[in-house]
Amino acid sequence: MLTGKSALITGSTSGIGRGIAQALADQGANVMINGFGDAAEIEDLRQSLSRRSGTTVLYAPADMTRPAEIAAMVAQAEAAFGGVDILVNNAGIQFVSPIEDFPGDKWDAILAINLSSAFHTTKHALGGMKSRGWGRIVNLASAHSLVASPYKAAYVAAKHGLAGLTKTVALECAEEGVTVNAVSPGYVLTPLVEAQIPDTAAARGISEEAVKRDVILAAQPTKKFVGIEEVAATVAFLCSDAAAGITGSNISIDGGWTAK
Ligand code: NAD
Repeated sequence: MLTGKSALITGSTSGIGRGIAQALADQGANVMINGFGDAAEIEDLRQSLSRRSGTTVLYAPADMTRPAEIAAMVAQAEAAFGGVDILVNNAGIQFVSPIEDFPGDKWDAILAINLSSAFHTTKHALGGMKSRGWGRIVNLASAHSLVASPYKAAYVAAKHGLAGLTKTVALECAEEGVTVNAVSPGYVLTPLVEAQIPDTAAARGISEEAVKRDVILAAQPTKKFVGIEEVAATVAFLCSDAAAGITGSNISIDGGWTAK
């Protein structure tokens, strides 16, 4: 159980982050959610998570491309909860295009959200974890932190970078009760994946059905999408005391994709 602990989860208004927020709140953690979306829907989510778990659930609208907003979000969580014990760097976006046509602003946004935001959150939250002698940082990487696919230059570069950041920070706090790990899902059917199906179809010159069958599920020997709950349960385990000896690792949850 994570009773008495407090968690900050970036990009948790949707998809995997939302599932992680629910799993950690269910374990008794106070939670700060973050991300974009309709204000009324986010408030409904905040209230329903809090009602369901009986813990405090707060929302920070910080934009993960803006370092000053990230610093303020960590400070807000520390002030509200007395500390951030668990940091889950989950916010992420995707853009699919051959590199010759890849827009520079998309490259910058993906690097900022999928990689640099984890640097900024970690920089601000780690000191408190070290001073309390307990902390958990989990970075949502991807099978694309280990292998590449064409047309995803920025995403693959950012996720490989996140895997490297994970190992570096793990070494910097290994003796202080703080673990730092990455989890690397294969394809999970969330808005991020649904949105890239038309672009992948266009980039490869095939139908959207063919993208699902021949590109997405073809990558995974199980031929199944990974479930949000499966990823969230792995993150919750990494946050438990039973996982105190796991640090600097990158755990694949990819239906066998990267075993090939
Ligand atoms: P999603 O689109 O459902 O959710 C992304 C979240 O990030 C949303 O809450 C969104 O509001 C937030 N976000 C986007 N830009 C932001 C910004 N500038 N500032 C703050 N929040 C921002 O996506 P998802 O599939 O749940 O992805 C979550 C993470 O898991 C990402 O890092 C993604 O790369 C990773 N991942 C996803 C898959 C998959 O198949 N879905 C596989 C491997 C890894």
